[in-house]
Amino acid sequence: MKNLDKLPKIELHVHLDGSVRIETAMEILNKDIDDVKENMIAKKKCIDLNEYLTKFEYPNRILQTKENLERVAYELAIDLKKDGVIYAEVRFAPLKHLQKSLTKEEVVESVLKGLNRVDIKTNLILCMMRDMSIDDNKEVIYLAKNYYGKGVCAVDLAGAEAIYKTENFKELFELARRLNIPYTIHAGEADGKNSIISALDFKTTRLGHGIRINEDNSLVDEIIQKKVLLEICPTSNIQTNVVDKYDDHPVKSYYDKGILVSINTDNRTVSNTTLTSEYKYLMDNLDFSLEDIIKTNKYAIEKSFLTEKEKNVLLYEYENKLENYLKNIYK
Ligand SMILES: [Zn+2]
Repeated sequence: MKNLDKLPKIELHVHLDGSVRIETAMEILNKDIDDVKENMIAKKKCIDLNEYLTKFEYPNRILQTKENLERVAYELAIDLKKDGVIYAEVRFAPLKHLQKSLTKEEVVESVLKGLNRVDIKTNLILCMMRDMSIDDNKEVIYLAKNYYGKGVCAVDLAGAEAIYKTENFKELFELARRLNIPYTIHAGEADGKNSIISALDFKTTRLGHGIRINEDNSLVDEIIQKKVLLEICPTSNIQTNVVDKYDDHPVKSYYDKGILVSINTDNRTVSNTTLTSEYKYLMDNLDFSLEDIIKTNKYAIEKSFLTEKEKNVLLYEYENKLENYLKNIYK
């Protein structure tokens, strides 16, 4: 497909810390390219999610000052725009960036400042972390409440799913619901159906990955009926060894069954990918047509954490840009 990079795109699942540019890390950490690549790009096949997560140590070292947070967010916004993205929900865990005495407000504001320097619509999803205490994670929900509608649209739960089980975080989502903060939950990636059952019990409207939904057919029926969207990240799933190779990825069968799926990069640097590349993999290996890809983008708009009014505006913009794109590729 010609100029797939120009196709308008929506991205709902991309981590700021997993998307630090290699050149930026080299400059800030004063390391050579081989060292930085080795430490920030995961192997095509890791043993599991835990090995994949070791690639976040360098980004974490970098993202401890206002300047670096702003710069990395700014550069990510540029990269998103270059990839054809017209709306992104960028996520990161504010509590991981307090090692050099920034306040969590300063962390959020620095990231917003960076994103807002580029003319692309974005919102932040603040991640709670599985390896942090319930009380600390509650702080993230209150933080999201403070910035809700002012650059923050939701919270998430991220981290080592197989070690810290989803079922243990119930009260966090009760609090988020009470405060009217939307949320998504990483579930059904490193852990299987029980994690998804918990996330659905917590009334999530989206699942980060949810790729292991096929472990239980009744769950497939349930998410179709409840219109829960799966934030699918194909390359990341292969790296974390949840899926063997692109041909084996279940995303097409989910899509064909009527599950709402959106396509995402997860981590642009750690997974060494772009949305343009992910779409190519799906078209080359899984028989996705351009129309299918467009439909997943419309699902993403529908299940984004924007207000209804904002969704209508975004859909209108998407349709316009799409029309232009199609005119250009078929002329
Ligand atoms: Zn993720």
